[in-house]
Amino acid sequence: MRPEALNPLFAETEALEGVGPKLKKPLDKLGLLRVRDIIFHLPERFITRRPIDNLDAAQEGEQIVIALNVIEHRASHGRGPYRVLAQDGAGNVCSLTYFGRASYTAKKLLPVGETRWVAGRLDHYGDMLQIVHPDHVVEDGGDTLARLSEPVYRLSEGLTQPKIAALVKQALARLPDMPEWIEVAQLAKEGWPAWADALRSAHKGEGEGPRDRLAYDELLANSLALMLVRADNRSRRGQMLRGDGSLRDRLRLPYTLTGAQIRSIAEIEGDLQQDAPMLRLLQGDVGAGKTVVALEAMLIAAEAGAQAAMLAPTEILARQHYETLRNMAAPTGAQIALLTGRDKGRQRESILLGLLDGTIDVVVGTHAIFQESVQYKNLGLIVIDEQHRFGVAQRLMLTNKGKRTPHTLAMTATPIPRTLTLAQYGEMDVSRLDEMPPGRQAIDTRVVAQERLSDVVEAVGRHIAAGQQAYWVCPMVHDNEADDIAAAESRYAGLRERFGEQVVLVHGQLKPELKDAAMERFASGAAKLLVATTVIEVGVDVPASTLMVIEQAERFGLAQLHQLRGRVGRGSEKSVCLLLRGSVMSETARQRLALMRETQDGFRLAEEDLRLRGGGELLGTRQSGDTPFKIASLEQITKLLPLAHDDARLLMERDGGLTGPRGEAARMLLYLFERDWGVQMLRGG
Ligand code: ADP
Ligand code: MG
Repeated sequence: MRPEALNPLFAETEALEGVGPKLKKPLDKLGLLRVRDIIFHLPERFITRRPIDNLDAAQEGEQIVIALNVIEHRASHGRGPYRVLAQDGAGNVCSLTYFGRASYTAKKLLPVGETRWVAGRLDHYGDMLQIVHPDHVVEDGGDTLARLSEPVYRLSEGLTQPKIAALVKQALARLPDMPEWIEVAQLAKEGWPAWADALRSAHKGEGEGPRDRLAYDELLANSLALMLVRADNRSRRGQMLRGDGSLRDRLRLPYTLTGAQIRSIAEIEGDLQQDAPMLRLLQGDVGAGKTVVALEAMLIAAEAGAQAAMLAPTEILARQHYETLRNMAAPTGAQIALLTGRDKGRQRESILLGLLDGTIDVVVGTHAIFQESVQYKNLGLIVIDEQHRFGVAQRLMLTNKGKRTPHTLAMTATPIPRTLTLAQYGEMDVSRLDEMPPGRQAIDTRVVAQERLSDVVEAVGRHIAAGQQAYWVCPMVHDNEADDIAAAESRYAGLRERFGEQVVLVHGQLKPELKDAAMERFASGAAKLLVATTVIEVGVDVPASTLMVIEQAERFGLAQLHQLRGRVGRGSEKSVCLLLRGSVMSETARQRLALMRETQDGFRLAEEDLRLRGGGELLGTRQSGDTPFKIASLEQITKLLPLAHDDARLLMERDGGLTGPRGEAARMLLYLFERDWGVQMLRGG
């Protein structure tokens, strides 16, 4: 149970004054559901204004403070704004512009003939200079205004800066007393303030220290929770799975395993023989050959008389894995089944029976394989493909399924940098497939301007006329998925007009039957061109496709581009990837695309991606879901995670049950950052 002291922070935002259904909506949209989220909604930047006495001295778009003499009020016409005309000392006229109900304030604040200090952003409307909704209008105190540094928060439609600032102020007034969870010596060394002070300062923009402290808190909570999971796992009983090789000996692979594959399999085999359940991450770039590693692991389980279940994130992938594994495992005689949510009736019944009586050795499927109704005779190993779609909490739910905890092998194709691996999978041991199977050809990657679209279409035409296949990826550019799908549909319509039946479309909102049908037509070679939103990012394997077009490539992160590109270059034919770029590109985007041309090493791209984005170009990357953090930026993760990790380890060594005073404080921290599952490990153990 969450400590009561935290209740005020976990109250819904509606507990704050002024938040009703109308304001709740934009808050929800920003993910601000609770008071806690509001206090952690730190400013993106701060405004400081320049005091001037002549409007001519200001730049367009500049934040200024200026004394103006009010000369005239002009009521709004129809839907137009309410304008107050005012003049600086040099006679330059400026409109103070108010929309909607704000005009009432204007009438009161700006009496004709008086002088007022006005702070706001200068722009223009037609020929007229204007300040729309000045931030401040005061009788005197121009000095104060000039010194005022004000936060700028991320907003959504329906919110304004003053509104969110007022909510932050209210929320900060409710901060409960918290014990200190950071070691005093460390606080002193870094010069960090106490938690509540750090929050107040961070909202005022008083230096980097307070923000760093808050980020550190979050990182510490995460590291600690992962270590608790790990400690709990070590104390659990699993089952020792020792294979006799009887099934593996019968495999007839058409290639020899790479050194990295052999090493990974040995690591897994070692884990499976332990009493404590395995918690291992298999990290390998697209095409590195994870499937055969998973198969060997599952065959060990079967040899030892246990069952294995492989969880895929989508139906398409489950089906593909099933086909691949069944083909590979055919000579061994191991029984492999597929179970998805779409299996109904007798088909489903017979699979359920097979799992219960143990005639099925390996089951591949979507979440359906972990439903209440699915019972295993002896589930010994869970393989989770494309790990990054699951959080730790979800992972834990899966492993709590059996009487004895099954071993877990998680696989991810996202080559994330080492620091982030620690943050995301810190409770696991890691095997890295850092060596590609031999004979892979480099993918010829080119950057092409979007204006040359018709040339690109011609190139695709020649490609499919020669009997080869291609992908065409449309970007996710809008906030709204429906718009993206509309864009993909219109591109599809155009390409279909040109190439006819050979073109198929796949996107996230297509009915599973239609999606599978389209994928099957493409995989079988009946269709030559697959138009898709980024849903093809994960896993799809069609070695005959050798051309990939990615539209608006500059909008994608490096890691994502790399994953998309990994769909081609899987066969023996030479592959090409065309990155279409828009005409306006930032310097970072240019560097990203250049790197894509230069290297195919996923781990290097991941490190570079972190470096490029850590520089802070993309404010709000921390919202993009590629780190498990809300506060800590990529830069802070790089800087502070190693410290937090060491600190967490020290605390675990001294007080693994979190019962001492600092341990108690650390529990509070875990709840504060919703790492409750970490605390639950303590009771479970
Ligand atoms: P991943 O799941 O890691 O993206 P896959 O397991 O799908 O990669 O393997 C990609 C391709 O490489 C498959 O066609 C597979 O048969 C092949 N492959 C795997 N291991 C080797 C190897 N050691 N030598 C040659 N080809 C391999
Ligand atoms: Mg795979």
